[in-house]
Amino acid sequence: MTRTALVSALALVHVLLFPAAAAAPPLKVVATTGMIADAARNVAGDRAEVTALMGPGVDPHLYKATPGDVRALQAADLILYNGLHLEGRLADVLVRLARTKPTVQVTESIDESLLREPPEFAGHFDPHVWFDPTLWIKAVERTRDALAERDPASKATFAANADRYIAELRATHEWCRDQVNRIPRSDRVLVTAHDAFGYFGQAYGVEVHAIQGVSTDSEAALKDINALVDLLVQRRLPAVFIESSVPRKAVDALIEGCKARGHTVRVGGELYSDALGAPGTPGQTYLGMLRHNVETIVKALAPDAPPAAPSPTGSASRPAEAPATPGPGGGAP
Ligand SMILES: [Zn+2]
Repeated sequence: MTRTALVSALALVHVLLFPAAAAAPPLKVVATTGMIADAARNVAGDRAEVTALMGPGVDPHLYKATPGDVRALQAADLILYNGLHLEGRLADVLVRLARTKPTVQVTESIDESLLREPPEFAGHFDPHVWFDPTLWIKAVERTRDALAERDPASKATFAANADRYIAELRATHEWCRDQVNRIPRSDRVLVTAHDAFGYFGQAYGVEVHAIQGVSTDSEAALKDINALVDLLVQRRLPAVFIESSVPRKAVDALIEGCKARGHTVRVGGELYSDALGAPGTPGQTYLGMLRHNVETIVKALAPDAPPAAPSPTGSASRPAEAPATPGPGGGAP
C-alpha cells in the first residue's frame, strides 16, 4: 500500500468511527436578550444557531414567555440568560428548565463587589451590567466557556473568536470614555426613563438620574417626577433621554413639568437601554448600541464639541465590510 493510499484509508476509518467529528451539527443556543445573543453569535461563529427570545424594543423586566418561546427553550442545547432579576417574569421557566438543560447565567462570574446595589431595588443587584463593557467581557467569557462545555471539539474556535470580540469591546470602551470626556464635567448628567445606566455612569463618570427604578415593573410616582423637575430646573439641564424599550410618557411629563416652571428641556434622543435595535439600525449589535448611545449623549449634552472621532470598531457589526480606520483618539479639545 502506498503512503497516500494508507493516509486515505486511515481518514476513511476515522470518518466511519467518528462521524460526528466530521459534521457535528451547530449547537442550538437560545438567549433571553439580544445583547447575550449577539455575544453568543460573535463567539460561536458558524458553530451555533443562536436565537434571542426578546426582539428589538422589548422590555425584559416585563417579558413573559410565549408558547413559542417554551418550545424553542425545550429544543435548545444551551440556554443563556442575564440573571440578577433582569428577566423577572421568566424566572420560573428558567428554574424549571435548568433541572434538565444546560442553563447558564452569563453574569454569574462577575465579582459581587463590582455590582451596584441600588437602595430601591431592595437587596438585589442592578442587572444592567452590559453598559460597562469591562463587566460585559466577563459575560462574554462565561458564554465562551458554556459553548465549549457543550461542544469541546470547537473550544479553540470559541477561544479565538472570544479573544477577537473582547478586543473590540476593549477598544469600544476606550472610545466611549474619550467621547464622554468631551462633555464638560458639570454637564455630564444623564436623565432617563428608568435606571438602566448606573454602570454606564460608573464606567464613564456620568451622574445618572431616572424616573423609574432599576426595574420598569412599577409605576413612576408623582413625587419622583417632581424631584427630577426640581433637579432639571435648578441645574439648568438642557436634555432628557427616552429609551427604546420603555414608553416615553413619564419623560414627557418631566418636559411638561419643566416648561410649567419656565425651563425648556428637550428630548436629547432615544437611547437603547434593555434591548438591541431592529436589523438595519445602529443598535442592531451590542457594540452598535454602545456607540449610538454615546454619540447621542455627547451630541445632546455637548452640542458645541467638535465632531466625534470614528469608533475603532465601527465595522464590528458588519464583518463583511473592510475594518474602519481607527480615529485620531477623539480626546477633549
Ligand atoms: Zn432595565
